[in-house]
Parts: sequence; structure tokens; C-alpha cells
Amino acid sequence: MKDQIIRKIFNGFIYIHILHHGQEDWFYGSWMIEELKEHGYNVSPGTLYPILKSMVDEDYLIKEEKNVNGKIRKYYRSTDKGRDLLKELKHNLKELVDEVL
Ligand SMILES: [Zn+2]
Repeated sequence: MKDQIIRKIFNGFIYIHILHHGQEDWFYGSWMIEELKEHGYNVSPGTLYPILKSMVDEDYLIKEEKNVNGKIRKYYRSTDKGRDLLKELKHNLKELVDEVL
């Protein structure tokens, strides 16, 4: 059960990462998995893609399929709603950091 709690907390961090990078540029799933790995998060495609899908469904990200050397790749980027959410989350995050750290 401890693992489930850790996963939930880490998932929250993953959303913040996604919104952060998504407001800077287009990204694709395997790039994000590598990026998260560099930050110490081991996220499988089976975890990441449902998160991305839910964020597209709820209008925080837009998805575009691009043809890269004959391969269709799905790219993601933040919407205005996603940017607003990140702004809000940053505020919460700062308060949390100020208290906890
Ligand atoms: Zn990052």
C-alpha cells in the first residue's frame, strides 16, 4: 500500500513536469520518459500515455500527429488551460516548498 501512495505523489510531480515542458515546446512520449528518467523518475509508457491522454481529454494539452521520417509520432503541447493550471500549481508548489524545506 505504501507503494500506491508513493506512486500517487510521484504522479503529481509528473503532471507538473509535463505542464512545464509542454509550455516550452512540443514534446513526444519517449522524449518525456527520458526527461523524467534524468530527474530520477522511472515512468513506463503504460503510465505516461494514459496521463497524456487524460490531459488531452481534459484540454490541458493538445496533441498533434507529425510524420517524422515516415513514422507517425504524437506530439503534445500545453493549451492555455494547461498554462493557467501550471501557474496555479507553481504558486502551490512554492508555498509547499517554503513550508516543508
Ligand atoms: Zn523536466
